[in-house]
Amino acid sequence: MVNHMECKQRPIQTAPRSEVYTPGPSPIDPTTWRAPTKSTRAALLTLALALTSCQNMFTLADDKTLGAEAYVSLLSEETLAPPGPTTAMVEEVTLRLVTAAKSVDPQVANAFDWEVKVIQNDEVVNAFCLPGGKMAVYTGILPVAGGDTGLAVVMGHEIAHAIERHGTEAMTRQYGAALLIQILLEGTAQEWAELGSSLLQLSYGRDAELEADRRGLRYMARAGYDPRAAVEFWTRMAELGGEAPPEILSTHPSNAHRINQIKSLLPEFIPIYEANRVDTP
Ligand SMILES: [Zn+2]
Repeated sequence: MVNHMECKQRPIQTAPRSEVYTPGPSPIDPTTWRAPTKSTRAALLTLALALTSCQNMFTLADDKTLGAEAYVSLLSEETLAPPGPTTAMVEEVTLRLVTAAKSVDPQVANAFDWEVKVIQNDEVVNAFCLPGGKMAVYTGILPVAGGDTGLAVVMGHEIAHAIERHGTEAMTRQYGAALLIQILLEGTAQEWAELGSSLLQLSYGRDAELEADRRGLRYMARAGYDPRAAVEFWTRMAELGGEAPPEILSTHPSNAHRINQIKSLLPEFIPIYEANRVDTP
């Protein structure tokens, strides 16, 4: 079961005011407590700094290594669609989006090794882009996409996750700085492989999902796809929902919230689309 880029949503809970932490009596007994030595303090400070200030402890090269490992292991369990008009359409859409990403976000997009495969599985309504740019589209999402513009909505969103580096950012949160420092500095091949496969189980947060929607809209507009199609696509996905929504839906922000955000962003992105549409007279 592939769980990764279904982008699972963690509910965000805000503590009521009365539950916000207020410091109680100090647990330190002044009669026995001694100040830490200078070197202990330096080590603690370094660690605290790493824990609090670092959103992502991985380099772009790490993203590529981990994503490529996860890609190989995932594809080894799937059947690829035979080359034909469908795979050609998927390749064209992703190429146009990647070209757009390279012009909007060259620093990250040019560093990645972009590649897309079509997985023959009509049951899975999903697509993903791993850290480092390895992408796949399941045939099950194609009827919902309804064509190249609808697919550009999905892949723009997934490519945006990779560019924003939400995968390794979530891993940084999940593993914690101390363990990652150890693995990144002196990890064995097996530990790296385990890191790679854990990518397939990650959840992003709701904010990351909305961020990916926004950046994805920019990529699709820049690539000459009408961003208004995003409203139609997510509406179709919502209609698929029912009692057993596809994973990509159940784990994303609520449809209403997502569609409202997209609508509010359209005035910004429609002019970009108009300037880049391929059928401009
Ligand atoms: Zn997502």
